[in-house]
Amino acid sequence: MTQPVDADARRAVRPVICYPNDTLPRPDMALYGAARAGARKVSEVIVPAREAACFRADAGQFFRISSVEGPQVGDLNLWNARDLSERFYSGKSRALHGTHLSVGERMWSSFPYLRPMATITGDSLGWYGIDEFGGSVHDVIGTRCDPYTGNLLAGTQYHHCCHSNLTRALADETGLSLAEAERHVHDVLNVFMCTGFTRDTGQYFMKASPVRPGDYLEFFAEIDLLGALSACPGGDCSSEHSSDSAACFPMLIEVFAPDPAALSGWQSPPVNGYDQSHGR
Ligand SMILES: [Zn+2]
Repeated sequence: MTQPVDADARRAVRPVICYPNDTLPRPDMALYGAARAGARKVSEVIVPAREAACFRADAGQFFRISSVEGPQVGDLNLWNARDLSERFYSGKSRALHGTHLSVGERMWSSFPYLRPMATITGDSLGWYGIDEFGGSVHDVIGTRCDPYTGNLLAGTQYHHCCHSNLTRALADETGLSLAEAERHVHDVLNVFMCTGFTRDTGQYFMKASPVRPGDYLEFFAEIDLLGALSACPGGDCSSEHSSDSAACFPMLIEVFAPDPAALSGWQSPPVNGYDQSHGR
């Protein structure tokens, strides 16, 4: 294939950020920190290895996902507790914040709501940064491991992918059928997963998560939330997923309630202000 004479000049054009985020509403991290300091634990859920579990966090509460027993990656879904059609929008969160999320960044909800569902308030892996391979933790670039892709690529029938784990957990929590629940499962925040894109081929890669027991990712619930977390069958995702061959461990979810007075002045964010007339 021949190149145009100005090929190098075209490649040398500097990129511009698609969505400059300096006009995003800023979370009041000092307020959240003060509220968290006086919060008390109100519930906890253990997610068994290769399974998922649901949890609820009211607006104004905090929830913490922790590694226990061994390195393990978790696939997180969030819904508005009163309306499952409002759910985490991985792609837009990536467009607004980048490929991996950490403290001060948000999990945004789907259209037509597009508001913060949760704000990350604590990350014991915040030291990791971006490694020499371009990898980092807590990505919003992967989807969730699922039995359909395994069937497509290898003809398998595997039932403990995160997609199926989340489907069963949501069905059990809500009373929906598996078929109804499955339609609400969506692309995830990959908690503790270490991922990136190869520089030479642009392929999605994973590597052993740096997470160790005691590490955590903590969130402030901006709206009333129903969440589901799957302890991925990939374990620390160092080699493979979508099978029972990796070492897997449970995960812990804890919910903390602050003193309501500590959140004075804070309001749960309204839904997006676009008028939805779409030009008609
Ligand atoms: Zn998975």
